[in-house]
Amino acid sequence: MYKQITTALLGICTFGTAMAQSSAPNTIIDGWDVLIKKCEQNNPNFRADLYELNKQIEQKAEAYMQANAANKTTAVKEVPIVFHIVLTQTKINQLGGTAGIAERIQSQIDVLNKDFNAANADSVLIPAAFKPLYGNMGIKFSLAHKAPDGSYSPGYEIITSAKTAFDIQSGTKGTGMYCSDAKFTSSGGADAWDTKKYINVWVTDITPMGVGGVGTPPPYAIYGGTTQFPWNEQGIVISYMAFGKRTNSSQYFPLDAAVAGRTLVHEMGHYFNLFHPFGMSTMDNKTCTDDDGVSDTPLESAPTQSICPAFPLLDTCSKKFPGVMYMNHMDYSADTCRTMFSKGQAARVNLELAGGGFRDQLTSDPGLIYWWSSSVENVVVNSEVSVYPNPATDACTINCNNAVAKRIDIINNLGQVVHTIVPAANETIIHADLSNLAKGIYIIKCTFAETMTTTKLMHY
Ligand SMILES: [Zn+2]
Repeated sequence: MYKQITTALLGICTFGTAMAQSSAPNTIIDGWDVLIKKCEQNNPNFRADLYELNKQIEQKAEAYMQANAANKTTAVKEVPIVFHIVLTQTKINQLGGTAGIAERIQSQIDVLNKDFNAANADSVLIPAAFKPLYGNMGIKFSLAHKAPDGSYSPGYEIITSAKTAFDIQSGTKGTGMYCSDAKFTSSGGADAWDTKKYINVWVTDITPMGVGGVGTPPPYAIYGGTTQFPWNEQGIVISYMAFGKRTNSSQYFPLDAAVAGRTLVHEMGHYFNLFHPFGMSTMDNKTCTDDDGVSDTPLESAPTQSICPAFPLLDTCSKKFPGVMYMNHMDYSADTCRTMFSKGQAARVNLELAGGGFRDQLTSDPGLIYWWSSSVENVVVNSEVSVYPNPATDACTINCNNAVAKRIDIINNLGQVVHTIVPAANETIIHADLSNLAKGIYIIKCTFAETMTTTKLMHY
């Protein structure tokens, strides 16, 4: 069940985009294995039940694909996502503080949106034999800008927790599984936002060391339904070490095989009911009867562990060309090796988003995403906040006229928060570094206890 990372192999196989770091742990564990083991303990008939369920889903997916091709339905489904960053101050600092976290979130959203829309640049590496199977999920992940209480949110919250880590198999709150303590404020974590309407992602430190993440599947009865996967625990927990995409070498990314943001892509697949192409878990037999319930992913005898083999890779379950689809996002190959979902996987995921699916309410309230842009006219403008110089080049000063803002967001012309500042107590004159921002027009939004203000800033 361990993903062995071999530094020497990584050096050869990462397409030159990721350099191995000598301090990296040499194993990553997928939380999914723990989850499947638990399902089997709870339900002695789990395997048989799962095969039956997968057969039914596969039939529906086939019908979906045929209808989709005939109707050319390509509307992108937009879903709100919220990140709960639950870390000690030391670990928040390791990620570069608030600014570093905001940057990782943006890079993570970018990776998700590329991989779930068949728009990843490294898709050119997909072998010609598999290219016709390159699937487009048609899902756009957008930061949720409306919190459950109706207030504005940048789409994430940073909780400075006293707890150093959360265990994948124990806890004091909720089910005690899959880092449940991270999902409750009362146990040092952060309460979920309505998990039927928001995709909740908890970014934290997971024990045992090396667990990349774990995504809860839709609560089908065979998994134990909402007893095993209560609604208030649904979502994804991801290790802060594998969060976001590495954009420069100074960032903290200790897991060599997890530098391209694909841990969350993989766990998001589980959240939408995808399995590994090699079957239920890494603990399977190798008789090739174990499948993922997807018609166009070839059988695979065992995971491709944290490396990027040469194409074609033949094994005992796929003996003939083109062999196994080791570049699939649901395999265990290195982040920089995983470049595609298949069309069958895309259909299976979309069944969960369609009416009657377990994730169908995610698209029900666009207001959770667009709260900011739709309510901008109602914002109380406090002319006492001044921003200077304006236009500005590398930096500007935000003077809140003796008031202390709870937060200051710098928002680009797409409505995206590109930088957030949380002023210290009594800090009413704030220095904002603009040197990392693209030139353009921004809105500086200051949120106070009762009001908020917006000021236009020209950055050139
Ligand atoms: Zn997995």
